[in-house]
Amino acid sequence: MAPSADGPGISPTWNPIPVLSLEEEQELREAEAGYISPPLTAAFAAPVLDKRQISRLSQSICSEYPLPETLRFLKRVRSCTSRHEFLLRLATKEEEEDVLKSGGNQSDSAGVSAKPQKKVYTSDLWTIPPLTDIFPDKVLDLQGLGDPFLVYVPSRAPRNQKEQRLWLEYWPSTYHAKGSAEESQRHVSEEERTRIGRYMRIALEAARASQQRGRKGVGAVVVDPRNGQILAISSDRTDEEGGPLLHACMVAIDMVAQKQGGGAYACLKEEDGELGIAGEKNADVRKIQFIQKAESGEKLQDMESGKDTEQSDSQRNVADQEEGTKRKRSEETTEEGPYLCTGYEIYVTREPCIMCAMALLHSRIFCVYYGSSTPGGALGTCYRLHCCPGLNHRFQVYRGVMEDECRKLICPGKS
Ligand SMILES: [Zn+2]
Repeated sequence: MAPSADGPGISPTWNPIPVLSLEEEQELREAEAGYISPPLTAAFAAPVLDKRQISRLSQSICSEYPLPETLRFLKRVRSCTSRHEFLLRLATKEEEEDVLKSGGNQSDSAGVSAKPQKKVYTSDLWTIPPLTDIFPDKVLDLQGLGDPFLVYVPSRAPRNQKEQRLWLEYWPSTYHAKGSAEESQRHVSEEERTRIGRYMRIALEAARASQQRGRKGVGAVVVDPRNGQILAISSDRTDEEGGPLLHACMVAIDMVAQKQGGGAYACLKEEDGELGIAGEKNADVRKIQFIQKAESGEKLQDMESGKDTEQSDSQRNVADQEEGTKRKRSEETTEEGPYLCTGYEIYVTREPCIMCAMALLHSRIFCVYYGSSTPGGALGTCYRLHCCPGLNHRFQVYRGVMEDECRKLICPGKS
């Protein structure tokens, strides 16, 4: 059955919003306000006196002095009104300093620390090292090149065509729409939105079922986006004895760990109450019934209800297939050694707290989608743990997924 984008009774107004780092947000604000200027780095360039030499010069200089990987978006040759200019190589900090100091009383010899006032520093007013100093190590035939100059070029690839046009003021660059991760991170296609909604609806059903059993209305689902396999469906279990830490995310991570032969919470192993844990096969069948009900919009009264239901052939087949995939995955896991939630997504109805966010970080989660923000939230509200510079793993975060529905479960009666 193909569920609609938003499912029965669910507002079609939500959109996943990427939670960016403060720096990225600032850049985005500046871009939206129309103020964009690229970060710059100093480089040496030279005019091409003989156009017929361009191809030969390109071949020899590009192979002997390739630009660093991160600057490959810069074109090596630019065409100016009356001539072509060749980007030779980056200048070191010392070389840049020497050139700027050589200007003496020039009005813009403000030093390296100040933002460059000019884009180009030529040998008529500044001391620029000769070509033989710029290329000292290799024997290059530099015939066809004129006097070198210092130029400031963008040090970050343009993220869109507007930036590409603005970068041109400094040095021409290439722009690949598909290769721009940040661009794609900011835009979620309708197809992707439907996919995200499908999994969040399952998390919502888990939250509802939990609430109906007198627990907190928070649910989570862990998915392998490479094959769409659901690895855990969990809900908040903090009301249980010994379970103050059993937030929905913690339970979900433990479920994944248990499937990989680990796991910390014995109570999750012993009980058959949560989906996907004890009695693997039985749990898988109930998991499938649960998903089917969630997808059809049917309210699940009791997660335990499928416990003794006889398996239909199709259910058994799906369960067997999942079992097979799991075995294959666990074999791959042993061989390649991926860690816990590496490459996985989690869909959770509320913003994870700092404990859950840290646990998700340690489990190497790939992406977190959450519904409603929470006052102590660690993925956007109080902290942005997923893009904290000092931590050894970063992951993507989207908020606002079916936000209204998720919030209603946390604060019944409030919209
Ligand atoms: Zn938590």
